[in-house]
Amino acid sequence: MQNFDVVVIGAGAAGLFCAGIAGQRGLKVLVLDHSEKVAEKIRISGGGRANFTNREIDPRAPHKHFLGDNPNFCRSALSRYTPQDFIALVGKHGIPFHEKHKGQLFCDRSADDLIQMLLAECAAGGVERWQPCGVKTVRVAGDGGYEIDTERGTVRSKRVVVATGGLSIPKIGATDFGYRLAKQFGLRLIEPRPGLVPLTFDGEAWAPYADLSGLALPVQIEVGGVSDPLAPLLCGSLPPKGVSIASGRPGGKKKERMVFSEDLLFTHRGLSGPAVLQISSYWREGMPIRVNLAPESNLPDALAHAKARSRKLIANELASLVPSRLADAWAAQDADWQRPISEASDKALARLAERLSHWELNPTGSEGYRKAEVTLGGVDTRDLSSQTMESKQPGLYFIGEVVDVTGWLGGYNFQWAWASAHACATGL
Ligand SMILES: Cc1cc2nc3c(=O)[nH]c(=O)nc-3n(C[C@H](O)[C@H](O)[C@H](O)COP(=O)(O)OP(=O)(O)OC[C@H]3O[C@@H](n4cnc5c(N)ncnc54)[C@H](O)[C@@H]3O)c2cc1C
Repeated sequence: MQNFDVVVIGAGAAGLFCAGIAGQRGLKVLVLDHSEKVAEKIRISGGGRANFTNREIDPRAPHKHFLGDNPNFCRSALSRYTPQDFIALVGKHGIPFHEKHKGQLFCDRSADDLIQMLLAECAAGGVERWQPCGVKTVRVAGDGGYEIDTERGTVRSKRVVVATGGLSIPKIGATDFGYRLAKQFGLRLIEPRPGLVPLTFDGEAWAPYADLSGLALPVQIEVGGVSDPLAPLLCGSLPPKGVSIASGRPGGKKKERMVFSEDLLFTHRGLSGPAVLQISSYWREGMPIRVNLAPESNLPDALAHAKARSRKLIANELASLVPSRLADAWAAQDADWQRPISEASDKALARLAERLSHWELNPTGSEGYRKAEVTLGGVDTRDLSSQTMESKQPGLYFIGEVVDVTGWLGGYNFQWAWASAHACATGL
């Protein structure tokens, strides 16, 4: 039977990073994965270019960008391994990258650069890698270490690191292994659910918008709380893109109001795009979402002004404020809106402005794990050390997405994978 200091289960972002650091610190490390290829999620991330971190992470205030029952849990790991640390590593490997908006960093060439970097770090640490190699059972051995039955035989290890990720995109290898193992050792779980996921709507109610599939536009979107009529949300002074206005503890149990200014995408079955992906992580069944489809315009003023000077159809005037396909679909919904704007009543125009800036929708569901970028929930952080990621079960560690820490869209989830892996590897 082979002996290791550490067996890492899952050769994804967190697992490979942890294995490399642990190996370079002199530990004898085995990393195994049931998939044929390593880190498939890195490969498909960020449209194939991996949005690998975000410069705007504030480790002192993780609740701004991370959800979970206790968003402050990730403070220690995030402040000990920062985006700057990862950027330095990427630079050391000569990987070209660029910044998109809001601090998001992407590889210039391909996400494969990042995978090769992680594999090189593992090689530098003498890490042994087995794949495809599934794990059958993990049990405590007589000496307090672990025996792991794998498809290539049983191995012994002093410590086991679980880095099997979440449930999203099962077709590239996601499993509930990590959650089952946590349960086996008596650890608590926060119920998993899909996050950063497109939302769907009832077929009939969605019919007026189905033809808009493919249309994208900047919006302001919000969920939770109660719309505050005094908040300057409709015209003029908008919060900066991606800002949360929380009336409770973001990511916590209290009801909260979250607001994002991002792009919205109409799909055949509902809504997607960064705006909806972000809000989906805060959305719960039964909650309406509210969308301002013209967040940069003062609609009542613009329509009143147009009425005074134009004889065009309302839809044509509206097309200067929102995309023309949207303007047409909107005007078609009410006979009062299908006439020249000069002939429209003030009441009809006020109703139009109100509907466009306060579009309230009730999602019937989401596209689920098939399309979700992340899994919310996971191993309860109350049963983990925020310093080392070790669980209450001595020698058993959990890192990355399997833990109840979920980031916003924009590189936050990878930074959590790197930071939790680093905290674990240096604590092993
Ligand atoms: C389409 C898409 C795009 C994304 N884009 C971004 C982005 O641009 N930026 C960002 O920050 N985040 C992004 N994410 C999220 C990010 O990919 C994950 O948060 C991150 O990969 C989690 O790292 P992890 O190591 O915890 O899990 P993973 O990277 O998912 O790795 C888990 C590994 O465990 C293996 N495994 C699972 N079960 C078993 C088992 N039973 N036995 C053995 N091995 C097992 C899997 O095969 C996998 O290799 C994206 C996700 C998706 C789905």
